[in-house]
Amino acid sequence: MRKLVQGIVKFRREARPEYRAQFAHLALDQKPDTLFIACSDSRVVPNTFASTDPGDLFVLRNPGNIVPSEEASRVSAAAGAAAAVEFAVRRLGVTDVVVCGHSDCGAMKEMVSGAGGGGPLAAWLEAAGDSLRELDRRPDLSPERPRHDRLAQAHALLQLEHLKTHAPVREALSAGRLRLHAWWFDLAGADVHAWEPELGRYTLIDEKEAERILSRL
Ligand SMILES: [Zn+2]
Repeated sequence: MRKLVQGIVKFRREARPEYRAQFAHLALDQKPDTLFIACSDSRVVPNTFASTDPGDLFVLRNPGNIVPSEEASRVSAAAGAAAAVEFAVRRLGVTDVVVCGHSDCGAMKEMVSGAGGGGPLAAWLEAAGDSLRELDRRPDLSPERPRHDRLAQAHALLQLEHLKTHAPVREALSAGRLRLHAWWFDLAGADVHAWEPELGRYTLIDEKEAERILSRL
């Protein structure tokens, strides 16, 4: 908390002057082109690892980067995710949605261990209960990685399927104005990997892969 508060002071003193005009402009409106869905994990910092600026990303973060199906959202606290999806896709008109999992994810570890406990965390993770089955369907997914990391990769892919259950996403996809991406952030390497449907695997986003992604946009 101390660092957070000091960081705000530091930002105001050092960085804010150069951001001022940008924020003054952004205060009038926002037009991010991407809804970025990531884990609440403190080490996963999209603005840092993707060099994005204020106004670039509409962000949804929760433990385990979970997107419950629309049906599940109607009857649970997961409605917040559905609301963020509707706002970003329908109101803001984002063109891309990125679901970004990551290595060493505590939520994935909970799911692998089946710790449960009956509390809110267990109830929240139930929205991702089908990710373990998804992992079983994808035995060739990064076999060298530990099970919770492979689960995080399968889980990010399955969240794209959950996204498709949401009416705003289905509409935008059928109109050809939305793309869905599954990414995975490797903490140890501070590297981001993107799912390549044609290759059937996650691929390190180096300059070559970045070009490949950009060429499709
Ligand atoms: Zn996590």
